[in-house]
Amino acid sequence: MRSPAPSRTSWTPTAQCCGAEPAADPVEPVPSALRDRLLATVAAERGHFRYESGHHGDLWLDLDRLLIDAGRTRELGVELAKEVRGCRPEIVCGPLTGGAFIAQVVAAELGAGFAFAERVVTGDAVAYRLPDALRGPVRGRRVLLVDDAVNAGSALLSTWQDILSCGAQPAGSACLLALGEAAARIAAATGAPLYHLLALERRLWPPDRCPLCASGTPLGAGQSR
Ligand SMILES: [Zn+2]
Repeated sequence: MRSPAPSRTSWTPTAQCCGAEPAADPVEPVPSALRDRLLATVAAERGHFRYESGHHGDLWLDLDRLLIDAGRTRELGVELAKEVRGCRPEIVCGPLTGGAFIAQVVAAELGAGFAFAERVVTGDAVAYRLPDALRGPVRGRRVLLVDDAVNAGSALLSTWQDILSCGAQPAGSACLLALGEAAARIAAATGAPLYHLLALERRLWPPDRCPLCASGTPLGAGQSR
């Protein structure tokens, strides 16, 4: 638990979708009520926070709350499936843990297959890898990658590399929440769009260059991803 944020401001969600290519089919705007519920679910707040990486930033999200309400997870996954329908994936794949649960809902909604990538830690290195039993089935198939929230996109990009090594054809990637420059970064790194329900601006700084520290703004307690 943590104390309330020292300062909060109103939301400035950015455009719903951006990336290297437009969606193949037009999609309906994400209902504003659903976006509000998504923000409420992750207890989004503006302020001055310290992240697990050690960076300071201006956005707090409790991403672990995303999956607690299974009905809400399904509702969000169904909405994300509408966004990515134009990708026409044969298989939807997500990294464990958060992304895979969303991916499973999207796969069911699209009538596609489902796969997941496991987190593999070797020393200080973290990678994501499909289990042996799933590597053959994705070969030559159009695979859509799904994660819950994407910031640096390390889990998504690592999974992307692994499905490429399996001989899959990545169709694109998608997430519920795209943070900061995630959409542009993932699109540039993969050459395919990152679809998302909601994009949130987030500024990050090394602690010794944090303007909020410099202005004397108190840090909120706790940590966020
Ligand atoms: Zn700071």
